[in-house]
Amino acid sequence: MRKKIVAGNWKMNLDKNQALALTNDLVDTLGDLPEHQRVMVCPPSIHLSSVVEVASGSKGLEVGGQNMHQAGSGAYTGEISGAMLKSYGVNSVLLGHSERRAYFHEDNSLLREKVDAALAMGIEVIYCFGEILEERENETHFDVVSSQLKEALFHLEASQWNGVVLAYEPVWAIGTGRTASPEQAQEMHAHIRSVLTDTYGTECADGVSILYGGSVKPDNAKEIFSQPDVDGGLIGGASLKTEDFMAIVAAMS
Ligand code: PEP
Repeated sequence: MRKKIVAGNWKMNLDKNQALALTNDLVDTLGDLPEHQRVMVCPPSIHLSSVVEVASGSKGLEVGGQNMHQAGSGAYTGEISGAMLKSYGVNSVLLGHSERRAYFHEDNSLLREKVDAALAMGIEVIYCFGEILEERENETHFDVVSSQLKEALFHLEASQWNGVVLAYEPVWAIGTGRTASPEQAQEMHAHIRSVLTDTYGTECADGVSILYGGSVKPDNAKEIFSQPDVDGGLIGGASLKTEDFMAIVAAMS
């Protein structure tokens, strides 16, 4: 059975003390999680080591990276590799976040390389994708999302999907306060699962967790998460406050 997941993307926020205070609060607040639920935070890479250390005091809090380079090592100033993440006990990484696509020019073919590099290291990929407003308005959003999936991920073997989580994040809903309606989220998640089913079959497609991201808050999380193909959320702004993040975690069923 696929897992429900709430993951917090801290982006480039919080200094060391703030990051540790938030992690400590989460560790203190997060009780035992049911078998089918996961909770994760993705801090800036400079905080990974200390956040992993604090999170190790909890039963359920996982720590992921926000990005990694496709090469194993080398002259790539400012970058971090999968081996580095692994060496700090980080076993998951966000790839393809819309901010990386927009500001750092990451496209589907580069992301395909990053996906391969992460999976080769045994790092779970949380693959982020979604359409921009113009694409939704001109009704190309289903095609855009299908291409983002196929070009970066459809070279994988069915067995490799064990190491992949999808995060559908319509760009027009990220950090804007404008959320996809539960019906819009469900419609796209069902589309994503059917595209997966067409290539990999029902068993594989049913096993993949598909998270929704885009202005999820305590007051809308429950309704979004209750959609049959929505398996939790990737949370930006609301992951920076313990109370809000924990309320969103509690909205997972
Ligand atoms: C995100 O950046 O992945 C995100 C979903 O941000 P927010 O929740 O702030 O819209």
